[in-house]
Amino acid sequence: MSKAYDNYNVFAKILKGEIPCQKIDENKFSLAFTDINPQAPIHILVIPKNPYIDFYDFTKNAPSEEIKFFWELVNDIISKKNISEKGFRIITNSGKDGNQDVPHFHVHILGGRNLGKMIS
Ligand code: AMP
Repeated sequence: MSKAYDNYNVFAKILKGEIPCQKIDENKFSLAFTDINPQAPIHILVIPKNPYIDFYDFTKNAPSEEIKFFWELVNDIISKKNISEKGFRIITNSGKDGNQDVPHFHVHILGGRNLGKMIS
């Protein structure tokens, strides 16, 4: 049985305007805002506006237009933050083994310093 989306997760509340976020940018289908607990000088989250639990759910079930708008916003953030040359890292955590805390699909865009090698 597939997992059900939790309508009360923190990103759902941000999307409903019930709690604030530090918005960086948005488009028709996606929103980008600053992570509340930044792990690097640049730490921005990009989320779809529609309810998807994780990467697998999004990629399997979102219409291709939503997927296109999502990655376009990711690239817009990379342009806006001027990190295309110096580099960055994109992470998406999924499920228990991925230690995903918020069950609404998101990617972390990290940059602004050398991020070191991959996690242990
Ligand atoms: P993950 O472990 O991939 O699910 O990451 C969830 C991320 O959401 C963490 O990096 C948190 O710091 C971040 N986060 C949680 N609540 C908020 C919030 N209200 N505004 C911005 N970022 C948040």
